[in-house]
Amino acid sequence: MSVQTIQKPRLGLPDLKDKVALITGAGSGIGQAAAEMLAQQGMKVCLVDLKDDRLEQTKQDIVAAGGQAITVDVDVSDPDRVAQAFEQTVKTWGRLDVVFANAGINGVLAPIEDMKPEDWDRTLSVNLKGTFLCVKQAIPHMKENGGSIIITSSINGSRAFSGFGMTAYSTSKAGQVAFAKMAALELARYKIRVNAICPGSIKTNIGENTKPTPELEKIKIPVKYPQGSQPLEHAPGQPEQVANLVAFLASEASSHITGTEMFIDGAESLL
Ligand code: NAP
Repeated sequence: MSVQTIQKPRLGLPDLKDKVALITGAGSGIGQAAAEMLAQQGMKVCLVDLKDDRLEQTKQDIVAAGGQAITVDVDVSDPDRVAQAFEQTVKTWGRLDVVFANAGINGVLAPIEDMKPEDWDRTLSVNLKGTFLCVKQAIPHMKENGGSIIITSSINGSRAFSGFGMTAYSTSKAGQVAFAKMAALELARYKIRVNAICPGSIKTNIGENTKPTPELEKIKIPVKYPQGSQPLEHAPGQPEQVANLVAFLASEASSHITGTEMFIDGAESLL
């Protein structure tokens, strides 16, 4: 499949029209592609990210294409700011149907013996606590009418364990899958579905939030396959391919799916 055909998907998920989604990490990569995809399907989207120009640009692109979007600058590890983002969304549009808890960082990559506790904490705080806070704040706004929560985990921590130095990251990603299953069961009474998506390597800006340390060299094990090999397409995935999965999970087309992790990695994690 060419990149061109991926970028302009026509999923046709009519039940999403006029519904409301909150997306974290919406200024870049997977979150940005998902925000644009959900807006294309007629959803009103609240774009949450750290403050930067990319977030505003995403909003402008959505509005220029005829969609509706607001932005809220939030560090997802900050409980008060996360609560405010949800309040602002519901104040603006009167409802909340879909949450894409997606913001995340690779953080500092180091051998365990060299990993600074504060670096461990930061990765867990953004990725895992940030997810908890988003789901926690979504519940009061979704419990009456139900909805869909999608959490971006990773193949790291569930199927792949060779990301040297990524113990904090992989632990946070594994924690997200466990959390999604616990939440799915707990929130089923409110008809809130919760699923985790597990991408392999996707071409985004996450490298900017990746901080390898020189000590990594001492724990590397030679790998058999070229790094990043993806048997299906022989290239990293595109954010738009992940956005297709997010839109499916957001819609009624997935109404019987909850508490599941879905791998989207071109078979990378099966090597
Ligand atoms: P990305 O292009 O870097 O996008 C992530 C966005 O999240 C950025 O806009 C970033 O803002 C934002 N962000 C970082 N920390 C935040 C915080 N504390 N509060 C609010 N926003 C924050 O990366 P991506 O690849 O799309 O990553 C999205 C998710 O996919 C992450 O959870 C990641 O772990 C997961 N994932 C990615 C891959 C991959 O290969 N790309 C594979 C598996 C899973 P700034 O840029 O301003 O810091």
